[in-house]
Amino acid sequence: MPNGRLGETSGNRIPTMRASRRDFLKSVPGLTLAGIAVTRPELILHNGKIRTMDRRLPLAEAVAISGGRFLAVGDNEDVLRLATASTKKINLAGATVVPGFIDAHTHPVYSGIRHLRWVDCDLRTISAIQDAIRAKAQRTPPGEWVIGFKYDDTKTSERRKLTRKDLDEAVPDHPVFIEHRGGHTAYVNSAAFAAAGITKTTPDPPGGRFDRGPAGQLTGGIAETANKPFWKLIPTDYTRDEYRQGAKLISEMMTRTGITSVTDAEGTPDFLRAYQDARDAGEMLFRVYCFLVYDSLDEMIAAGIRTRLGDNRVRVGAIKLVCDGSISERTARLSEPYVGQPDYYGILVTDEDELYEQARQAHYADWQIGTHANGDVAIDITLRVYERLRREHPRKDTRFRLEHCTVINDSLVERIRALHAIVNPFSTYVYYHGEKMVHYGEERLNHMFAVRSFLDAGIVVTETSDYPPGPFEPMMALQSSVTRTDSNGKLWGPKQRITIEEALRVATVNGAYASYEEDIKGSIEPGKLADLVVLGKDPVEVDPFEIINIPIERTMVNGRWVFEA
Ligand SMILES: [Zn+2]
Repeated sequence: MPNGRLGETSGNRIPTMRASRRDFLKSVPGLTLAGIAVTRPELILHNGKIRTMDRRLPLAEAVAISGGRFLAVGDNEDVLRLATASTKKINLAGATVVPGFIDAHTHPVYSGIRHLRWVDCDLRTISAIQDAIRAKAQRTPPGEWVIGFKYDDTKTSERRKLTRKDLDEAVPDHPVFIEHRGGHTAYVNSAAFAAAGITKTTPDPPGGRFDRGPAGQLTGGIAETANKPFWKLIPTDYTRDEYRQGAKLISEMMTRTGITSVTDAEGTPDFLRAYQDARDAGEMLFRVYCFLVYDSLDEMIAAGIRTRLGDNRVRVGAIKLVCDGSISERTARLSEPYVGQPDYYGILVTDEDELYEQARQAHYADWQIGTHANGDVAIDITLRVYERLRREHPRKDTRFRLEHCTVINDSLVERIRALHAIVNPFSTYVYYHGEKMVHYGEERLNHMFAVRSFLDAGIVVTETSDYPPGPFEPMMALQSSVTRTDSNGKLWGPKQRITIEEALRVATVNGAYASYEEDIKGSIEPGKLADLVVLGKDPVEVDPFEIINIPIERTMVNGRWVFEA
């Protein structure tokens, strides 16, 4: 069970496992063993410091693995005794082992495809971005789009936003669309505005904004629903092969950092197929719980599909709904204005009636729901929708999810607890996006990414990157949650600090619960899937400000090494 109180039971364990473990424990203290038919370990890792996240045996020295599952966990002597002539043994030489990390909200195929096809604009000057898109334009036929991603307006040394003029200077003859790494805003050139038919007299769409100069002229920035006319034009004619390659590439990038499971928080049918294609080709290194966008709900219901369909590699997740804007791009809908902008409260993308209609459809069709809600206004609306659904149509073990759930207060926390909802806050933002935190202010930061408050209330809270918006390295997430200190050494919201032990549970056990998979993963215990990470140092022992530097030595998924340094 994840941290804290949970009103609902966690489901079915394999009864034979439990019985036989109990029997075995009678004879061998300090060892837990699965009662599965296979008794010959294929592999034994021994002489390690295994932080199992299993409360019955938190620390172990050795683990036996067979058929992609943990067979036994315990001290060296007891586990090594199970070895046969064909068992491979690896001496960990004291290295620390933890369960594979679970990134409970990220965008894998979405970013994998971008890494394959687009210009990575995670660069430190505007001129470097200009050079990168100029080079891409030279390889692109005139008139076709040049597209960038991972641009961040606060990470360039000029400390200002990209403008239409910057982009026109670099690339005059192609429409250019540079996506902010947050994904809610973008920057376009004159050719792009012309292609989309948008002029200075075009009004802002509901739920969106075109940035303008003093005379109303378009300056290049676009926000939220103002992206839509551009999205219609940007080619997304990726082949089935490219989707599969996107899944493969991102799974390689992520498993290298210790991630063994991800939740795709905004999947489409194309993404779902990509994961299956990559799995079938033996190329997908992690496991995925794949949300589906609301637009695909009708066809999913018609096909008889709902949350949890699938296997240990690819499983159908929740329906994704969106209530408000983004934290990193300062469009989250807040009850108090942004610092220094007394009239600006952010953007509500979906109003309550519409959100209720969407959620009702999913809830009545037995889907889990994950709603993007960053600001306290959006969280309040989302909770009202969930509370109404629970009243009107109670269901067992709904596990309503609040994606991000960034800015909270005591009454919101109490309502989340009462609903047994799961919260999925950004885990690397304090460390990585520190320079944006001034827009929220020091006091408000004590109520943001509020993992301490959630844990204290007994709410299941997970680790998430939201990559691309946040970096996905679990070591950065751990350090950020434990120190609440950004990369420049500034402390943000110290009241929300958690311990490293708590952060490790959040990143493993709790992530498994959020996808209804607590019986098969999240901890190193007999019968569970053999997903683990070997670390160069013990995160519990090192200086908290050095956690980010801990090397990932090996990553195992399903009993197989998918990364070895
Ligand atoms: Zn997201």
